[in-house]
Amino acid sequence: MIVKRLSIENFRNIEKMNIEPCDKVNVIYGENAQGKTNTLESIWLCTGCKSFRGTKDKELIRFGEEKAKIELDFFGFDRNQQMKVEIDEKRKVQLNGIQLPSANKSLGEFLAVVFSPTHLSLIKQGPSERRRFLDTAIGQLRPNYASLLTKYNRAVTQRNAILKDVYHHPELLDTLDIWEDSLAAYGERILNYRLSYLEKLKNEVKDIYSGLSCGKEEIGLRYIQDEEKGALCEKKDELLEVLKASRKTDMLTGTTSFGPHRDDIEITINGISARRFGSQGQQRSCALALKLGEASMIKKVSTQQPVALLDDVMSELDISRQDYILNHIKDWQVFITCCDPNTILHLKEGKTFQIENGKLKVEN
Ligand code: ATP
Ligand code: MG
Repeated sequence: MIVKRLSIENFRNIEKMNIEPCDKVNVIYGENAQGKTNTLESIWLCTGCKSFRGTKDKELIRFGEEKAKIELDFFGFDRNQQMKVEIDEKRKVQLNGIQLPSANKSLGEFLAVVFSPTHLSLIKQGPSERRRFLDTAIGQLRPNYASLLTKYNRAVTQRNAILKDVYHHPELLDTLDIWEDSLAAYGERILNYRLSYLEKLKNEVKDIYSGLSCGKEEIGLRYIQDEEKGALCEKKDELLEVLKASRKTDMLTGTTSFGPHRDDIEITINGISARRFGSQGQQRSCALALKLGEASMIKKVSTQQPVALLDDVMSELDISRQDYILNHIKDWQVFITCCDPNTILHLKEGKTFQIENGKLKVEN
């Protein structure tokens, strides 16, 4: 995927802007609150996803205006294409001149991955962030996965409901068996997807992290279940056994204490927990490596290389890590935002855009 031209109208603080990026690295720089992230966000919306800032569509329209427009000329799936996104009451999308029945029909047409400072939660926060990362990444590549997760979660909810009632209604025990059986069956399939994805992702992330740290540090990713249980329970029978064994304690809390909905990915740097002991720069590097690894996986499966949108990735990184991002990410089109104008001095090949007050000020 390569963005050839981006044109924005009445989007956030941008009244009108036209950008023709290069095929490799594009650096968007400027002072705080000038519209750098807004520019990346406008590209991201062309993927058909919601804003990565969790904003409602309506809030994307420039104050006092009625409609925001984004036009993206891009090269993807071996041809030149055009995506037009209009936001007023609803989001409307045209692909190559044809109006799509709904905005989410454009999913999968223009591919991008985004890294923003909020993604640091991948490293810093609890397991649910990492599970969501894994589930979203797999869901993009395997269409069946999302419905599998829904069925699994339903089984968990049903088991929990019965656990709360079974003391007063012992006749529910039979139903409990049935839900535990489907929980274990769906659980096995989810684990299968997750473990095989993580195994491949690990290699991509290792290469990227090693590049970022000039080979000085090694990242480790490991799928973990309940720490006390030691070896992974992957098979339906194993899961079922744990569920049956934990019935009594689960009844006390009315929750299911074991299963894919409780699992985690342990991220280490040189064998030490990145979450607990990583420095700011190491944590940022880990989150970035995970996101870029996700992009490599998309390339492997769909043969299309997503555009990388890296928002404010440079802060807290030393010169050698910045150099890797600016000069060593090969074969991808990358958009990087930063505040420090000195950053562009280290860019060997690429284009730079200075943004001021929602307008393109200098282009080089
Ligand atoms: P930073 O370096 O601090 O991250 P930035 O250049 O990335 O800054 P943006 O997040 O792109 O800044 O936002 C620029 C400005 O856009 C903000 O000052 C914000 O008030 C403004 N803004 C956001 N939404 C709207 C909107 N709907 N209409 C007009 N202006 C908006
Ligand atoms: Mg910003």
